[in-house]
Amino acid sequence: MVKTSYNPFLTAQKQFDRAADLLGLNESAREFLRNPMREFHFAIPVHMDDGNKKVFRAFRIQHNDARGPAKGGIRFHPMETVDTVRALSMWMTWKTSVADIPLGGAKGGVICDPHNLSPFEQEQICRGWIRQIVKNIGPYADIPAPDVMTNAQHMLWMLDEYETITGAKYPGVITGKPIGLGGSQGRKEATGYGTIITVREALRQLNISPENTSASFQGFGNVSQYAIELYQKMGGRAVCVSSWDNDEKTSYSFHKKDGIDLTELTAITDVYGGINKEKARGLGYEVLPGDAWLEQEVDILVPAALENQITEENAPTISSRVKIIAEGANGPTTPEADPILESKNIFVIPDFLANSGGVICSYFEQVQNNMNYYWSKDEVLSKLDMKMTTAFSAVSDFSKHNRLGMRDAAYVISVDRVVRACQSRGWI
Ligand code: GLU
Repeated sequence: MVKTSYNPFLTAQKQFDRAADLLGLNESAREFLRNPMREFHFAIPVHMDDGNKKVFRAFRIQHNDARGPAKGGIRFHPMETVDTVRALSMWMTWKTSVADIPLGGAKGGVICDPHNLSPFEQEQICRGWIRQIVKNIGPYADIPAPDVMTNAQHMLWMLDEYETITGAKYPGVITGKPIGLGGSQGRKEATGYGTIITVREALRQLNISPENTSASFQGFGNVSQYAIELYQKMGGRAVCVSSWDNDEKTSYSFHKKDGIDLTELTAITDVYGGINKEKARGLGYEVLPGDAWLEQEVDILVPAALENQITEENAPTISSRVKIIAEGANGPTTPEADPILESKNIFVIPDFLANSGGVICSYFEQVQNNMNYYWSKDEVLSKLDMKMTTAFSAVSDFSKHNRLGMRDAAYVISVDRVVRACQSRGWI
């Protein structure tokens, strides 16, 4: 589905330019914010298990740190590009700003496919990544976290390398760590749960009760699995989920009219969210083409995979029943698809609001690291709920009062906060 010509950085800049026009920003503010402040490109040599050496290209891009230390995940992906990381770093700046947490925006990436790497090879990539960037990250400078195809174990290897090099304990240098080793309760649930908290608020506004709704999800990784969990707890019926098939390099959608069973489906899913087709058929799932998740007759769509998934080509195939799209992924909708969604009267919860639960909980993790005192899961999740609900209300109130779509409203609020911080510091 992803076209190779698609460039997410151009999308991010286009979205920013629109916000800049709405805010009437001057030239220096535009010039400063439509590009990252700092970029690091480096190579990580790894001794492969077969005795050969292989070099992996990697990046860390810090888009903006006016509101606090730069913050954002590290992706492992075979198709990673510098422009994808640039776009994702910019979206992180807007995300921490709309959530109103004292952090900036960054993103990292390594061009690699963990499906084909042993745990030891992955550990060397993590340690090598830290060795290359150690001088330019830190709890008060830039704090990495997990993202696509990275997890708590990767974060722990990175933390360990950082602490070994610096000779002291700095749990706040990285978030998404394992519980008991500086990680926070609720962090692994946070992004998916946060997305559904925004869905709950949108449904409240539309006067629809969650028990009377159905939903379809794209992706079956960390975000989607926990989004489905909370959605089902709220009484919703999740009827379809799509998943990447790494052998066939394509995705499939898994459909069950009466609702999918999360426990049985996760039992036949690999660590990257790949669902076993044969076993799924055996459990009574209909296995459909990858795009089918988008064409379901449901009330809610949750794209929770990668960027560039809802485009001007496929947006017209979305059922007229769909009322809400909650963007669990970063950048799933292209600017060209937005007017189509608007003409269909769909309530779009934009990515950097809908998926901000992860970084909000990362912020809580750092706060706990600094205190060296840890909260219960209930405490973390209730704080998450409060932050997400406050951010959602601010955006939806602004959208109503200024007759703007939710994406434009979120952009105007977050860009304005960052511009003010840059101006107060005398940067622009
Ligand atoms: N990678 C996640 C995101 O895109 C979380 C980032 C973080 O916790 O710093 O929001």
